[in-house]
Amino acid sequence: MPQKIALVGAGLSGAVIARELAEAGQAVTIFESRDLIGGNCHTQRDADTGVMVHVYGPHIFHTNDDEVWDYVNRFANFLPYKNRVKSTVGGQVYSLPVNLHTINQFFGTALRPDEAKTFIQGKAEAIADPQTFEEQALAFVGQDLYEAFFKGYTEKQWGCSPTELPASILKRLPLRFNYDDNYFFHVHQGMPEHGYTDMIAGILDHPGITVHLNTRFDPATAGEWDHVFWSGPLDGFFGFDQGRLGYRTLEFREFRYDGDYQGCAVMNYGDRDVPYTRITEHKHFAPWEDHQGSVLYEEHSHACGPDDIPYYPIRMVKEKELLTTYVERAQQLKGVTFVGRLGTYRYLDMDVTIREALDTARAFKSGSLGAFLASPL
Ligand code: UDP
Repeated sequence: MPQKIALVGAGLSGAVIARELAEAGQAVTIFESRDLIGGNCHTQRDADTGVMVHVYGPHIFHTNDDEVWDYVNRFANFLPYKNRVKSTVGGQVYSLPVNLHTINQFFGTALRPDEAKTFIQGKAEAIADPQTFEEQALAFVGQDLYEAFFKGYTEKQWGCSPTELPASILKRLPLRFNYDDNYFFHVHQGMPEHGYTDMIAGILDHPGITVHLNTRFDPATAGEWDHVFWSGPLDGFFGFDQGRLGYRTLEFREFRYDGDYQGCAVMNYGDRDVPYTRITEHKHFAPWEDHQGSVLYEEHSHACGPDDIPYYPIRMVKEKELLTTYVERAQQLKGVTFVGRLGTYRYLDMDVTIREALDTARAFKSGSLGAFLASPL
């Protein structure tokens, strides 16, 4: 007999879990507090320019996971897209991630790969087992490149000194001694032709799935369901009664331009005195389209207040203590599973979100699922 299953949130996690369970014969009800599906992946075509806008900031799909790649291709036509990010620093434009072009341009050299490696090794500081972002950066590229490309940007993005942040944040980025300027190194990379919301609508399009928009799920009613999958904020399930887990929020200041404003999708700004971290020009995320008008976002990062949209979990020592409290309480609940970026308080790329959602649905079907697929601590 089908169980009564509630899914809170119609973002990627919710949609994929709902689909897997619906295909297994369950009837699933989704409660979404916003008036749209897709969570922060939501995309929408701008009425004036026709540009597909990444409403909650840029999302580029990249993965090494063949099953996840096949999964997204079932619901969307993915077109080739390579993320090539530039950074404006001290009045010059450089190539990111830091690669041979960046090094040669920054130092005014014409080094070949082996020479550049030796040169950077001479600049990198010998720090055994770097713990903080700053230590990691100094051990990675040395003082000059750190100060130009990482220090100011990171202070703006995280609102604190890189000496207070974990090394893991920087480990997301590669350093290359060749001219490869692809921001990601995964084998699959692309953009859904008609945007992420269209793809997620396809995932949700199943007779076993009912979606209620503009509807908040009251955690006090969780006991009325056989199982609840919660992709809202972990602390929100408990009414934030022990305090709020820290997030950074993003404020997007939109502006428009007639023509091509910056010639690329993402322009970072490394200088501390430029108030934003980056400018995204949305039409360049769909290079197969042609639009005269342009929609751009200046990205400003702030501490997340109660009424702001949470983006980046902070996960510093203070947050980890509070996180432990909430995780332990979650583990005592019966019939509730916390999923996704907000539910597990981790910064997840889209492919990892889908992988975990597929694994969560499988664990549920095999009867081996608890409060978390794996503890987020
Ligand atoms: N970062 C930086 N300079 C840059 C780009 C990134 O210092 O030009 C740092 C920053 O701390 C950021 C982290 O590297 O939070 C990860 O960067 P990524 O581009 O993966 O950030 P996302 O696009 O996910 O915000």
